[in-house]
Amino acid sequence: MKPYRPEPFTDFSDTENHEALAASIRLVQGELGREYPLIIGGRRIMTEDTFNSINPSNSSQIIGTMSKANAQLAEQAIQSAGETFQVWSQTPVRERARLLFKAAAILRRRKHEFNAWLMLEAGKPRAEADADTAEAIDFMEYYGRQMIEMSETASSKLVWMNGEDNDLQYIPLGVGVVIPPWNFPLAIMAGMTTAAVVAGNTVVLKPASATPVVAFKFIELMEEAGMPAGVAQFLPGSGSEIGDFLVTHKLTRFISFTGSREVGQRIFELSAKSAPGQIWLKRFVGELGGKDAIVVDGEADLEAAARAIVSSAFGYSGQKCSACSRAIVHHKVYDAVLERCIELTANLTAGDVLDFGNYTGPVIDRSAYNKISGYMETGASEGRLMLGGGKADTPGYFIQPAIFADLGPDSVLMQEEIFGPILAFCKAGSFDEALDIANNTDYGLTGAVFSTNPSHLEAARSRFHVGNLYINRKCTGAIVGVHPFGGFNMSGTDSKAGGPDYLLQFTQLKLISEQL
Ligand code: NAD
Repeated sequence: MKPYRPEPFTDFSDTENHEALAASIRLVQGELGREYPLIIGGRRIMTEDTFNSINPSNSSQIIGTMSKANAQLAEQAIQSAGETFQVWSQTPVRERARLLFKAAAILRRRKHEFNAWLMLEAGKPRAEADADTAEAIDFMEYYGRQMIEMSETASSKLVWMNGEDNDLQYIPLGVGVVIPPWNFPLAIMAGMTTAAVVAGNTVVLKPASATPVVAFKFIELMEEAGMPAGVAQFLPGSGSEIGDFLVTHKLTRFISFTGSREVGQRIFELSAKSAPGQIWLKRFVGELGGKDAIVVDGEADLEAAARAIVSSAFGYSGQKCSACSRAIVHHKVYDAVLERCIELTANLTAGDVLDFGNYTGPVIDRSAYNKISGYMETGASEGRLMLGGGKADTPGYFIQPAIFADLGPDSVLMQEEIFGPILAFCKAGSFDEALDIANNTDYGLTGAVFSTNPSHLEAARSRFHVGNLYINRKCTGAIVGVHPFGGFNMSGTDSKAGGPDYLLQFTQLKLISEQL
């Protein structure tokens, strides 16, 4: 099988692409406000209890009204996944992989439509939406190939022994609960779901409450690609109402979670307890938050560093787990880097993503807006506000990218994940000290270093304790298969999404030895 080349990003300066997206936005705008059902065993179920998904650029606009599951429907969803597992787990690997390749092909054809949904439901600027869609395509192409390779080469890695036939098989686990975040509503949700499914598991997908329509559209697309009923149940609902029920259910074999540290730690704890009648230890795959830093040495390309800091800090309003929220800069170049970042940031506007001139869109919802506003106040008491922070909560949740200078390494702005457009600058006395400051958090997701000093770069390679370390480039923008993604410490279980070992987490290895 030929290696896969990552999906290229769309060039929107090309008129044809620009117009194709504009047409898709019009199409999607015509579909806003519809009602969406749950999907259990392929059946559509409308509930009386509903919630709305809203456009964060225009909070009076309803993207869709979602049916909302309760414990009884969650029970049905688990049972349906359990029944379908008996059949799906026996489906040949190549057939399961083909489902992902077909879904990737359909998504490639419909990418502007999905881009438009991402822009309207998640407030993604078009380039960020396009990268989200491309990553979803990449995940499916990659995991499909990975599953085939794993299953067809497992036994060949065994040592041969005379008189025996030995066979290794990656078999699926069972029913998985998939709980994705809203910030990559297509890529992460699709990657988590299809990785579990291609490995032969069946799932209950509880989409993020801010972005359920994108998830519904994706499950429909999987059905169009030929996914049998019952392989993936679509179950929107409140985390607190059905989350615990799904996580603690005795038939749940694994939980694949991506989201905040608080929720992730709680689910990890709950999943460790066995329910009455449960006959396995649940597996928890958890990708959590980050407090990512870019370190700038006294000897470095300062222009490249400043550009990387600004783009990593403020792309999608800093709402990426990999976003740079700390710039740790050698004292010799601190003022120069700070000044250049301020200049670059001064030109960035936050506004409706349908106006392509805006660099960034809104933050996701009212609660994020309030939380980030609180950190603006904390920053003002801990450091110096250099620019930004202007806010407007109508018609959408807009916050201008903000830079604070002179933060201490232990300050709140240097320690807590803000998940918004706030960048903290901290001065380091030496390169060594800069690495100490960079490692001085509970997290360990991404980090970057700018330096031209080879021995400093070697020191960073061994000492900077993050799952994804980037040298002389930005700390966001991991590409499937190229930069397997996952973090250390409180950033999670380092599952390395988009990497060669990711699918191991959704399989168990069976050895069959026959005496000849
Ligand atoms: P969140 O923890 O609030 O929610 C994540 C998911 O959990 C959502 O689907 C939510 O509905 C669900 N949930 C909430 N409470 C629950 C409960 N009690 N039981 C079960 N499910 C529950 O996170 P978020 O705001 O959606 O996402 C942002 C966070 O995700 C940030 O911390 C970010 O760093 C992290 N993230 C990490 C990665 C990574 O790869 N490490 C990638 C993207 C986002």
